[in-house]
Amino acid sequence: MPHDHADDAPPHSLLPPDPELRVKALETLLTRKGLIDPAALDEIIETYAHKVGPRNGAAVVARAWIDPDFRKRLLKDATAAVAEMGFTGRQGEHVVAVENTPEQHNMVVCTLCSCYPWPLLGIPPGWYKSDAYRARAVREPRKVLADFGLTLPEGQRVRVWDSTAEVRYLVLPMRPVGTEGLDESALAALVSRDAMIGTALAEAPT
Ligand code: FE
Repeated sequence: MPHDHADDAPPHSLLPPDPELRVKALETLLTRKGLIDPAALDEIIETYAHKVGPRNGAAVVARAWIDPDFRKRLLKDATAAVAEMGFTGRQGEHVVAVENTPEQHNMVVCTLCSCYPWPLLGIPPGWYKSDAYRARAVREPRKVLADFGLTLPEGQRVRVWDSTAEVRYLVLPMRPVGTEGLDESALAALVSRDAMIGTALAEAPT
């Protein structure tokens, strides 16, 4: 017998039912056969998670900072406003932008799973999907922010937005001081993924 599994079982039934395990099993198989390089695969995931994805959201934030009409459209109907910039697609159908102000800081979580505005931010980070973040973001948001190294002024309210399959949120951070002379792309470079989830602020220019 050339096969070590039952004759009548199709090969894919040997893979674990959980999608993540299934992907892992496939990856292992393809790596063993020399068809893929796991380092290259990690590089691709890393690119989408940290570079391509969040750069879209950062472009939206920078546009909102320099164009008051765009900012108004973004806050009124973010799905339509980001579509103007070409950012559409799965998990981006109903985007709501929430603006940070000196009075209110916004922070996004999905308490149920990991809903996230993919076309704007790419793939959610591991911590966003963790049980700890999902539970604690609602219960003790300030402590969670402190874990991220972010301490807000006492007087600034923290509002936590719970994403769903219907609504995904994008935090519009406050424009840092000292950025008056910067153009749109220089401004976008100050906007990190975490700033658009609300676990960080936009960076000050160096
Ligand atoms: Fe979810």
